[in-house]
Amino acid sequence: MSDLTHLFEKIVAREIPSHTVYEDDLIYAFLDVNPLSVGHTLVIPKKRYESLADVPEDAAAALGRALPKITAAVVQVTGADAYNVLLNCGKRAGQVVPHVHFHIIPKYEDGSGLGIGWKPGDLADGPALAQRIADAIH
Ligand code: 5GP
Repeated sequence: MSDLTHLFEKIVAREIPSHTVYEDDLIYAFLDVNPLSVGHTLVIPKKRYESLADVPEDAAAALGRALPKITAAVVQVTGADAYNVLLNCGKRAGQVVPHVHFHIIPKYEDGSGLGIGWKPGDLADGPALAQRIADAIH
């Protein structure tokens, strides 16, 4: 497989064509080339960060501003009354392109869209775990 590290930066720079749906100083959004369903859209920071945990506040705020309005447009245009917003981080979690990207994936009555294998477990040690995570937020 070719190296996908800089694929989305090349898309942002128009070195590789894409179907643009939104752009501002920090954010770019375009149609997924292999959509799970009609309207499957990718929303990315223009600058490459591999993990959501690496995204600095300015780009994070811009993502937060852009995501609801792009989602609203996808929903309006496709007529989908359900959708998933997904971000895969790390190969084991399904990330193929190492540049943070949110998927907006309409879910239709015919079943097209994201399939989810969700196997809930039991919450063990909740208070201590929550406290450790809370203490690690900075
Ligand atoms: P991931 O598995 O990393 O979360 O998702 C990567 C996504 O990028 C996939 O849904 C894939 O179809 C999409 N993708 C890969 N290459 C291209 C491309 O060249 N153009 C566009 N528009 N989407 C791409």
